[in-house]
Amino acid sequence: MHDMHIAALETTITAENWSGQLEIRSALDGRVVNSGVERYKELNKTHLNPIESREINDDTILLRVQTNQSKIEIAQAARTRVFMQENTLDINKQVVQEEGYIAHDFKVELGEGESVSIEKIVSPYTSRDHAISECGLEAENTVVQVGRFEEILKDHALAWENLWNRFHLDISIPNKEHRTEQILHLYTFHLPQTLSINTKDLDVGVPSRGWHGEAYRGHVFWDELFIFPFLNLRIPEITRALLLYRYRRLEKARSTAQIAGYRGAMYPWQSGSNGREESQKLHLNPKSGRWIPDNSQLQRHVNAAIVYNIWQYCQATGDLKFLSAYGAEIILEIARFWASLATYNKKLDRYEILGVMGPDEYHDSYPDSKKPGLNNNSYTNFMAAWVLCRALELPELLSENRWRELCALLDLDREELEHWDEVSRKMRIVFHDDGIISQFENYDQLEEFDWDGYRKKYDNIQRLDRILMAEGDTPNRYKVSKQADVLMLFYLFSSEELGEIFGRLNYPFKYETIPKNIAYYLSRTSNGSSLSRVVHSWVEARSDRENSWKLFTQALETDMGDIQGGTTSEGIHMGAMAGCLDIIQRCYTGIETRKDMLLFNPMLPEELKELKLRISYKGHWLDVTITSGEINVQALPSAARPIKIKVKDKIFELKQGENKTIQIE
Ligand code: BGC
Repeated sequence: MHDMHIAALETTITAENWSGQLEIRSALDGRVVNSGVERYKELNKTHLNPIESREINDDTILLRVQTNQSKIEIAQAARTRVFMQENTLDINKQVVQEEGYIAHDFKVELGEGESVSIEKIVSPYTSRDHAISECGLEAENTVVQVGRFEEILKDHALAWENLWNRFHLDISIPNKEHRTEQILHLYTFHLPQTLSINTKDLDVGVPSRGWHGEAYRGHVFWDELFIFPFLNLRIPEITRALLLYRYRRLEKARSTAQIAGYRGAMYPWQSGSNGREESQKLHLNPKSGRWIPDNSQLQRHVNAAIVYNIWQYCQATGDLKFLSAYGAEIILEIARFWASLATYNKKLDRYEILGVMGPDEYHDSYPDSKKPGLNNNSYTNFMAAWVLCRALELPELLSENRWRELCALLDLDREELEHWDEVSRKMRIVFHDDGIISQFENYDQLEEFDWDGYRKKYDNIQRLDRILMAEGDTPNRYKVSKQADVLMLFYLFSSEELGEIFGRLNYPFKYETIPKNIAYYLSRTSNGSSLSRVVHSWVEARSDRENSWKLFTQALETDMGDIQGGTTSEGIHMGAMAGCLDIIQRCYTGIETRKDMLLFNPMLPEELKELKLRISYKGHWLDVTITSGEINVQALPSAARPIKIKVKDKIFELKQGENKTIQIE
């Protein structure tokens, strides 16, 4: 079994045509300075305090440090050994010690043609690890007992093989698209670097830039929305663990709502370790060098994303026990928050959500207004109505006993549920120009933007906010978006689901609404967020396959080509990476998990000749093969109960061990 408490390195040096002495230092360095993000250079960069460093034995050293705010202890023990033809060399090592630093210095004599292998094995532990006594002691014990590099490598390779078996997407595309395949593999590799079975039992959330870099300082955003649906069909245990991370912060979200004057639970936009709001109030525009107010914490829609994620997880796994024990409570508290945030407009007989921000971060207030926030962001309002509907569906999914328990626990009565029902039917959505869903109220009154002029003037206009602000202007004046906002609705919901909610809200919704809105907003978005192209590619998949593929290949370049303004070195873009994988997994296959069924509606782009997936659904492992003409679903042997599958309009039951092929043209 791969041990996450072991890191190993082996290097072999051969003296070819020379002889002499090698001088080697094997160090543990706790003097880490976090200076990976240029914009943060004025901020505090040192987060570790030294505690202890000592030599354990001739081969082994130990270093203990502590994070200076959260007081988490981190211990590392390092064992360094030198081998010549499988014999361990008995080498005298000198200890070098400085504050927060320890090393073994040693010399190796090599005759001409001789080789030595130097092996360094490090065991990291933190005081937050489970099943430990004291982290320094554990690091010491582990590194002293562990075997040689080859053994560790074998375990490591096996652990990766198992992960690959779970995560791998097998696509067949012509040679010229080889790069696409390579990038998909690379992104598949990066996902479990941050989220894997190893993090399942740790109380860690999803940092939007992975653990790869320092941007956003490990804060947890709504980006989970782009990651969990991929994981649900691969290793749902990980999603479950990450949803529990949110559950543990429910109490904090309750008090945050209360302090802000609302009921229920309000999760923060950028969540810190204990669930506190960590969004910055000011941020630096590197283009102008000026610090400007940041209102991004008004993005209350993160709360809807959490409910969406719980719902998706439960649909993909059938894990009603999770819903009953944890999920339902979060859903009810967030529904309560939305109902308390919504205000009644008597004149319109509609509920409104005022003073918030949608996903598009270019708009944080009305032009010339001193007050932050916008009214009736359509994405937020729609999601709030959807959340209320899910909360109202809970009595049908939970046992009567649990429902009663929750009602008592949360002091939830019939009157409040009736109010939620009313809000879910009367939420306001603003439209303009005959069927365009307005990003927010009065969006139509903003000025059109001179896209061509700015494209000529600047090489790259992705970050129009920075460009306009540096010019003394603001994106708030224009019909420009950083990222998908209204279009998020078509990303998250099928037209059937959209129709249901719009119908409930008593607004007309025709299928044509979708392409019309896509065309409208696509031409007004600068893709300043890496999440944007993922959504755009997805929503184009049904109406313009060619453009969808083009946008998909652009989204794929996010970190591979470092196209997001050179920010990859500050950390990978987890949402974009997982989002790209999910375009292949769920979008082009038309996979949905709803109505207690696994739905397929494949629409492969020209470039994708064949697609093979191994997905997990309600306890089954399903091998799915899709070509342009047919789909084959094979349920691998298991003890799972039969499932219902729908391909286009055909519904059938599939038992473990069964195999079905269906023509799709
Ligand atoms: C995007 C947000 C995203 C955040 C973290 C921002 O640039 O606008 O939607 O949550 O990055 O990835």
